Amino acid sequence: MCGIIGYIGVEKASPILLNGLRQLEYRGYDSCGMACLDKDIEVRKGVGKINEVNNSFSFEEINGKMGIAHTRWATHGGVTQKNSHPHISNNGKIAVVHNGIIENYQEKRDELKEKNFEFISETDTEVIPNLIQYFMDKGGDFVDSCKKALTELDGNFAILAIHRDEDVIIASRKGSPLVIGIGENGFFAASDIPAFLDHTKQIVYLYDEDFVVMGKTLSFYNLKEGPVFRQTHTVDWDVEQAKKGDFEHFMLKEISEQVETVKKAIQQEKAIVENICDEIRRAKGIFFVACGSSYHACLSSSYVFSKISGIHVNVVLGSEFPNYTHFLNKDSLIIAVSQSGETADVLEAVKEAKKKGSKIISIVNVMGSSLTHHSDEFLLLNAGPEICVLSTKTYTAQLGLLTLIAYSLAENYEEGKKKLEFLWNVIYYLTSANTRNKIKELSEKLRYVDHLFTIGRGLQYPTAMEAALKIKEVSYIHAEAFAGGELKHGTLALIENGTPCIVFVAEDNEKEILSNAMEIKSRGGYIIGIGPKNNEIFDTFIKVPEANSMNPIIHLAKSVTVK
Ligand code: GLU
Repeated sequence: MCGIIGYIGVEKASPILLNGLRQLEYRGYDSCGMACLDKDIEVRKGVGKINEVNNSFSFEEINGKMGIAHTRWATHGGVTQKNSHPHISNNGKIAVVHNGIIENYQEKRDELKEKNFEFISETDTEVIPNLIQYFMDKGGDFVDSCKKALTELDGNFAILAIHRDEDVIIASRKGSPLVIGIGENGFFAASDIPAFLDHTKQIVYLYDEDFVVMGKTLSFYNLKEGPVFRQTHTVDWDVEQAKKGDFEHFMLKEISEQVETVKKAIQQEKAIVENICDEIRRAKGIFFVACGSSYHACLSSSYVFSKISGIHVNVVLGSEFPNYTHFLNKDSLIIAVSQSGETADVLEAVKEAKKKGSKIISIVNVMGSSLTHHSDEFLLLNAGPEICVLSTKTYTAQLGLLTLIAYSLAENYEEGKKKLEFLWNVIYYLTSANTRNKIKELSEKLRYVDHLFTIGRGLQYPTAMEAALKIKEVSYIHAEAFAGGELKHGTLALIENGTPCIVFVAEDNEKEILSNAMEIKSRGGYIIGIGPKNNEIFDTFIKVPEANSMNPIIHLAKSVTVK
């Protein structure tokens, strides 16, 4: 993943691009760079975070009213100055930034080398400007040569390209996100809306293989279909929502926002939710398909669907879905869940299911994302921009919305909604400075451990899985989740004196999970209990009131360990 942004208009481009890059830094931060066109193309790029690179040579000194910029998370080639973007064609006239992976880059690189092209980086990206140059050398104009080059590339990309002698930016996407912004003083293209939210809320969402020529006007093409019309939408995201405000970092801000976001996720049109429930009832074979945290939200909700609505769903990881496609037909229903709506494995799964005539419903946070284009129906999470790579507020928003659907399936829409709305005061308490301080204290104790376990039973099991994922992602501590009853089948052997174990407790399985915790304690484990009641087994206790089928929402609505 990485972030790209382009601007063309009447203002100086570099400050706009720099500001946009900072908003995209969550997508990648090993190196960054910028290219603007004034009389010639000027490129500055380097290794490090945006502020570090900007301190060595100020991006804002670059002149020009159009330009492109990139913040990298390397996939091909080490983290070096040469490998950072923008990449330039051999004749020095074309600059490209790229998010994604060009799968056939080696083949293209070899072909171009045979035609005397030289490569200075190890990246897959460098073939793009050179392939464009190759078609231009053969007599093509810039726009057509870009189209030809992109058609030859396999894999996924969002690219921005400029040429020394042209007053346009080319923006195109296939499988990687890219949105267009229409401002009063120019046009924008970026991996994510917050990158230009300071300038405009007028957005054009692009479809796969769309190709945009951004100049004095915007022209939309699709590499397969030719000229296309793309509608302009107004986003209701607030500029402030995409800023850190007084918070130390976005994760903390987004954790705190859950007071509002769980409420917003369940503000849906009742008729639409009921319509979706009818589809679920009609279906013969329901699949929740998701990756990462969204997968855990699905797993958790499969328990709620079973408990509240008596409906069985299969929960499948996007990347594992190819093993299940032979079960699909026109009566199957796929419920695809993804924050961004751009998760590649989920999109692949959905495309396969569509080929079999199955119905697709998706739950996403980003309006206009690819998943919304591929779905028969979709529900929006309404959680606002999630800038932190770790999902927090969108995880609980997904749980809230899926729980509302489960209640609605059981003909209890209003009751479910009321119960979910009532959670806000629990979340308020759990995300307050008071609880945060307590968790900070605990994290001081845990920060130097190498391993940590999390356990839960029933609904608390997916919660334990999500907690372990969060701890791994943010603290780089090895954390592993187990269903309470599973530890004894081998893993108990790993518990040593002081090994921390987070135990998620709920009233309906209190006795059983405490007995599992006892097994860990007897081997010297350090027990952190999370649940409604303290117990002498716990070395540390965090009180979370009992909320039955809504436990997963509040059990994870708190801060996670920070190293
Ligand atoms: N594949 C490109 C590189 O490694 C782009 C990376 C990305 O999308 O994060 O430079």
